[in-house]
Amino acid sequence: MKIAILSRNKRLYSTNALYEAGIKRGHDMRVIDYVRCHMEITSMRPAIYLGSEKLEGYDAIIPRIGATYTHFGCAVVRQFEMMGVTSVNESVAISRSRDKLRSLQLLARKGIGLPVTGFAHDPRTTEALIDQVGGAPLVIKLLEGTQGVGVVLAETRKAAESVIEAFRGLNANILAQEYIKEAGGADIRCLVVGGKVVAAMKRQGKEGEFRSNLHRGGTASVVKITPEERSTATRAASILGLNVSGVDLLRSNHGPVVMEVNSSPGLEGIERATGKDIAKMIIEFIEKSGKGEKATRTKGKG
Ligand code: ADP
Repeated sequence: MKIAILSRNKRLYSTNALYEAGIKRGHDMRVIDYVRCHMEITSMRPAIYLGSEKLEGYDAIIPRIGATYTHFGCAVVRQFEMMGVTSVNESVAISRSRDKLRSLQLLARKGIGLPVTGFAHDPRTTEALIDQVGGAPLVIKLLEGTQGVGVVLAETRKAAESVIEAFRGLNANILAQEYIKEAGGADIRCLVVGGKVVAAMKRQGKEGEFRSNLHRGGTASVVKITPEERSTATRAASILGLNVSGVDLLRSNHGPVVMEVNSSPGLEGIERATGKDIAKMIIEFIEKSGKGEKATRTKGKG
């Protein structure tokens, strides 16, 4: 098959792993910097270019869209879909998962366990917002944050009020969340490919840190997940419509709760921790789903 990986940098671990896995399985692989693409939006003949080159003949794309380029990146993915190219994750699903609030609302509607979460705009609602998530301690998150940046644990009500005020002063969108203390600074990353959890790892924040992000000094180890955790992860991925995703769970007293579903999960940490070749599984998934129209459900709609 002719497969394009939409990524800004060939040398990134995940991009390179997917490229090599595809080559090993006999595919014609190429990494395309989607930010440099331009599109021709005409009815009946949608086209996409990289410089003066028209990109044609692709059977499938693997989008690895960075958070900074969600909007443009999703437009590129949508353009490929309109041309009948299969995308491992469809553009609608990627944009859904990038909007933290929208994804939490979609998951809540289907009864997925979530930390009690509140969202508000008006500063006069701060008090009510804090009460709604059960008072202090609570977690306050910037909606635009990634890798744990802008995720704050407010130990007291006063601290929570100050943080909310400060973020609001910067015109930032925030949400407040019940603090899952019993998770003990750890979370579980489940890698879901084609409706199955193919690998899971536990990330533990460093001493004195409630955030477990590997970029913040957290460490990863293999973990055996429960059937309930497994089904929560696969259901969350399917509700958002993602074929490949990283579902982050916290172990709470009221069962597994979903914190986030990531549409371009990093492969390095989880491949190292579990010894599994996830890039190969993603390529095999593409082979199984087949080409074009059949595999693309939305064909660029929505
Ligand atoms: P990001 O998307 O920036 O990584 P997350 O929402 O995943 O932000 O939060 C970063 C880390 O903080 C998580 O991996 C988890 O360890 C911790 N964390 C986030 N929310 C909660 C919460 N409600 N209760 C306990 N720990 C949390």
